Amino acid sequence: MAFCQNCGKELNPNQVVCLNCGVAVKTAQAPAKKPNGCLIAIIVAISIPIALFFIGLVSAIILPQQEVAQTQSSTKQSVSSSKTNNSSRQKSILATIVDNATQK
Ligand SMILES: [Zn+2]
Repeated sequence: MAFCQNCGKELNPNQVVCLNCGVAVKTAQAPAKKPNGCLIAIIVAISIPIALFFIGLVSAIILPQQEVAQTQSSTKQSVSSSKTNNSSRQKSILATIVDNATQK
């Protein structure tokens, strides 16, 4: 049996408004929202590991592709490494020139 939360009078199950005080009756519909909140909490609790799993899956798929891209760019770097070698040689030549200048 339900009771009015305002005046405490006994209410019929189908009663929507308390006949004694006229306040809207909060019947089984109000406590039914709590399991929904629990359901949301359960869904969140389940979806977080699933989301983490998918993040790991996506990273496992994307990271090898990035490694492939890095290896592809490393071949380009090997082509451009001759230029960097030239620049490093120029730096070493400049360093020897500076050393000679400071020695004098
Ligand atoms: Zn009442």
